[in-house]
Amino acid sequence: MIELRTPVEIERMRGAGEFVASVLEATAAASGVGVNLLALDRLAHDLIRARGAESCYIDYHPSFGGSPFGKVLCTSVNDAALHGLPHDYRLRDGDLLSLDFAASVDGWVADSAITIVVGTPRDQDLRLIDVTSRALDAGVAAATVGNRIGDISAAIGDVARDAGLRVNVDFGGHGVGRTMHGDPHVPNDGRPGRGLPLRAGLVFAIEPWFMLGTDRIFTDNDGWTLRSADGSRAAHFEHTVAVTDDGPVVLTARRQQDDIGA
Ligand code: MG
Repeated sequence: MIELRTPVEIERMRGAGEFVASVLEATAAASGVGVNLLALDRLAHDLIRARGAESCYIDYHPSFGGSPFGKVLCTSVNDAALHGLPHDYRLRDGDLLSLDFAASVDGWVADSAITIVVGTPRDQDLRLIDVTSRALDAGVAAATVGNRIGDISAAIGDVARDAGLRVNVDFGGHGVGRTMHGDPHVPNDGRPGRGLPLRAGLVFAIEPWFMLGTDRIFTDNDGWTLRSADGSRAAHFEHTVAVTDDGPVVLTARRQQDDIGA
């Protein structure tokens, strides 16, 4: 079901958006060589408690998940692309780390993800981060009244193709509101001019994720973490965006959008 939010409701969703952005900033800042993924999850947990927010992940148990997620932060390292289940692992120099976080504040959800390099970057990782982040920007820019979902999808897919990357469309963006996952689905590739017409009040997550060498994935033995089929590295960027008569509003904008690093 497609739900449209009033301007007042979108204003209220800013609280969730700002909180989710602040947790990504804090966990990214806390990431570094030798830091355990479980410590990052614990930090996010403490911030949730301090804010009186609710995790969208801890009890999350969809059909494709082996058991409830049990953590509050997704930590996907190197060849892990999505849904990285935090485990007892200390980050190493040069690791590519994606952090994905969703929480509910005062009954409204926001969902966002970033990818950072831990320590010394590899050129190809910086390039993958740049392409994926630019795909998100292109998708957000297409989220305007009068466009259709396919215009967002095509904008994302075009950035990937121009960079020589293939796109997996099994997982993509989704409606965000009272819960984390709703309609519409926002695929990371598609045809312009097709799909749901965008109207003021639509709120959804746009989340390109690309892998350097493949568009195929498999599920890790932990039942959650999705890894690239060929072991190549992955990046993932996500914002929760409201379509308004004044253009797209990024509810999960960070204070230092382009200045995040570990
Ligand atoms: Mg997310």
